[in-house]
Amino acid sequence: MSTDERPEWMKSGMPHIWLPYAQMKTAAEPLPVVGSAGSTLTLADGRTLIDGVSSWWTACHGYNHPHIAAAVHAQLEAMPHVMFGGLTHEPALRLARRLCERLGPGLDRVFYTDSGSVAVEVAMKMALQYWLNQGERQRSRFVAFRGGYHGDTFGTMAVCDPDEGMHRMFGGMLAQHDILALPLDEADDAALEAHLRTHAHALAGIIVEPLVQGAGGMLLHPPRVLARLRELADRHGLLLIFDEIFTGFGRTGTMFAFEQAGVKPDIITLSKALTGGTLPLAATVASARVFDAFWSDDPTHALMHGPTFMGNALACAAANASLDLFEQEPRLAQVAAIEAALRAGLAPLAALPWVRAVRVLGAIGAVELDGIADRDGLRRRLVEAGVWVRPFGNIVYLTPAFTIAPQALQTLLAAVGEVLGAQRP
Ligand SMILES: *Cc1c(COP(=O)(O)O)cnc(C)c1O
Repeated sequence: MSTDERPEWMKSGMPHIWLPYAQMKTAAEPLPVVGSAGSTLTLADGRTLIDGVSSWWTACHGYNHPHIAAAVHAQLEAMPHVMFGGLTHEPALRLARRLCERLGPGLDRVFYTDSGSVAVEVAMKMALQYWLNQGERQRSRFVAFRGGYHGDTFGTMAVCDPDEGMHRMFGGMLAQHDILALPLDEADDAALEAHLRTHAHALAGIIVEPLVQGAGGMLLHPPRVLARLRELADRHGLLLIFDEIFTGFGRTGTMFAFEQAGVKPDIITLSKALTGGTLPLAATVASARVFDAFWSDDPTHALMHGPTFMGNALACAAANASLDLFEQEPRLAQVAAIEAALRAGLAPLAALPWVRAVRVLGAIGAVELDGIADRDGLRRRLVEAGVWVRPFGNIVYLTPAFTIAPQALQTLLAAVGEVLGAQRP
């Protein structure tokens, strides 16, 4: 939209806002959104876009689902929020019980936070203190993997991919961890095993995004890699953390990605789709074994963490309503249908000379390009084609709502195909 068509609130507010991941001097202006419904966003000038991103993978039931809206309305009337220190409430405890039921035995204790990064911070703190409480003070490092993304806070940046992440910029200010290649082939497997043999005594655990490294480039690995990590963690006595903030709640075709590998982590982190994309909430869920290392008469063995808004009742009510929808509506069947449509719709793009690879798993479709010379231009052409798709790095990806209508998904795929096929991006 041209500058003078912007709504008044945008003209007066933009000089005071600082946007995410944006060079404020040169970045294209954000689009003013005034409404959402299903898989559609409505802009201030009345245009509508089909949403291919689900607002950073959160809105798995589409926008404005009436069941979640009703649950949040009712909770707002009853009690929006109370502190979680010394007080508790039904939405939080019901959600904890239901999450543990869905995760199955071996993931037994839920700690709430309000964002994914903080859930990972808590997972790392849990793992470190698990060892401290047993008198093992030398276990200060984690093994993490190239291509990984675990958040933007200082603790989590240190376990992100060192090149894609912010290691260089903050060199010397981040904790040192051991970032290796995922064991996809024999050489990398041998390197990981040798590393663990030598360094296990200084390690607290291994952290990985199971099946899909999301923000690192939608990189896929087969379930056997997770089974192998479980085996190595057990052999070397390390805790295994699965960061399912992106993959959790159906995105890869099963409720949780670990189900496809038939192994469980000692600690799992959940966030993004936890509330169906409505309110911020995250959970770090630990095994009874991890929890037992904190169970003591010694007060210094307690987990010392407690975000102000932890267990927010509105967010927990939304998450409970989201779980209702997974129980009542055929979400995983919808994901399977989306997977088939993404495979069929994106496959032809692999023939374009500037496309390096097409990857599909569950409701995730990614096109890796050999480069994007003008990312703002590409984003603009996608908007002009009537879709909201936000390429990053050299990746154009689709992570639609599981409820997207088949016709809307076809329109989305056709728009992406047209824009990517028309010219080298
Ligand atoms: C998004 C994401 C995070 C960080 O979550 P925030 O809520 O943005 O802090 C961590 N890990 C993974 C795998 C993610 O996709």
